[in-house]
Amino acid sequence: MNAPIVRFAPSPTGLLHIGNARTALLNALFARREGGTFILRLDDTDLERSKPEYAAAIEEDLRWLKIPPDVVVRQSDRFDRYRAAAERLKAAGRLYACYETAEELEYRRKRQLSRGLPPIYDRAALRLAADEKAKLEAQGRRPHWRFLLDHRAVSWPDLVRGEAHVDCASLSDPVLVREDGSYLYTLPSVVDDIELGVTHVIRGEDHVTNTAVQIQIFEALGGAVPRFAHHNLLTTASGEGLSKRLGHLSLRSLREAGLEPEAVASLAVLVGSAEAVRPVKDIRELARLIDFSHISRAPAKFDETELQQLNARLVHELSFAEVADRLAALGVRGGEAFWLAVRTNLSKVSDAVEWWSVVEGPITPVIQDEAVVRAARQHLPPPPWTEATWKAWTEALKQATGAKGRALFMPLRLALTGRDHGPELAHLLPLIGPERAGRRLMGEAA
Ligand code: GLU
Repeated sequence: MNAPIVRFAPSPTGLLHIGNARTALLNALFARREGGTFILRLDDTDLERSKPEYAAAIEEDLRWLKIPPDVVVRQSDRFDRYRAAAERLKAAGRLYACYETAEELEYRRKRQLSRGLPPIYDRAALRLAADEKAKLEAQGRRPHWRFLLDHRAVSWPDLVRGEAHVDCASLSDPVLVREDGSYLYTLPSVVDDIELGVTHVIRGEDHVTNTAVQIQIFEALGGAVPRFAHHNLLTTASGEGLSKRLGHLSLRSLREAGLEPEAVASLAVLVGSAEAVRPVKDIRELARLIDFSHISRAPAKFDETELQQLNARLVHELSFAEVADRLAALGVRGGEAFWLAVRTNLSKVSDAVEWWSVVEGPITPVIQDEAVVRAARQHLPPPPWTEATWKAWTEALKQATGAKGRALFMPLRLALTGRDHGPELAHLLPLIGPERAGRRLMGEAA
């Protein structure tokens, strides 16, 4: 395969959500694996709704996911290209002026439906004579422009869905240019795909019908038709579609909640694929797992609990070197010994803060079993404390008190940490140290 050129094409009208991340990752990782180019195309032709802060947030999200684009293109810089393409289509008789108002179209649509006809645009505007158009223009009407579809079936070998067919005879001629001269998404996307040499269009299956229309536009403009891969969409756990507008599970909120980008990426890529969903730390490995032909046709459920679990599994295996800077920024000291002691108890790296505060204190000890705690004080092992201290100490306490198992360990844990759960005390104990431990066993906040 020649090096592919792909693009992720969000409109900067909101924050990206996990479903957008799926599209972005499938594009970026496929390009990276095949030595290709990953373009971020900002579909900002809607000048009202597109916002520079959303464009910046999109770039930030991609960097966070570790898939910074190779090239960034803004559609708002390219209006002259779209105008030129529209003129060519007009000259070729494929783009025609229409003057119907929204109300007229709605009225016709209802009439068709009531007669049991499909509500397709009837191409009445094609039959307007020049003087009729002139009259409408004289009344101040401005045209919108429709693409004249070839009424035939369009098919393409979809990398996900296999051979795909759409019968364009069942579609209305799509409006490409609005009355105010602004462009709908359909034409600019094709113009850019042609001019940027896009080889693979990888996007959600909500675009399947657009693809048939766009293939006709590629052909009308004499451009090379790219390959298409329409992946399934993600829904919420209750089956609703994700929406950028509603701010569903924005990547920013996941980042701010302290999730690892690799956990988000693993879920976004692997859910609804043939691969088991699991945490994949190395993004090159994740790229290797992408297989368009095995992406499910059914929508895939994004479950936030599953994401938390993936994140936890990933955190449990992070080395100290991988988190040292973040721990320092969180004010967590204790070095590698502390990290190794607590990491398997964490759901997020930032949870280390809580366990560091338990080590460093002050905590409020809970004295549940006076006798065990008194014995523990009496048998407090001499310094220095090591990983072996806990075993020696609890052995001695077993002998002294006759308590064992939970009856021994829980009172010690409650007194030493103020909590009934947590990392193994064998590892925490040397970090807490004899001085603090002694005071906690006295019931003092230390
Ligand atoms: N702006 C379009 C969208 O976000 C792009 C679709 C495409 O990839 O062509 O749905």
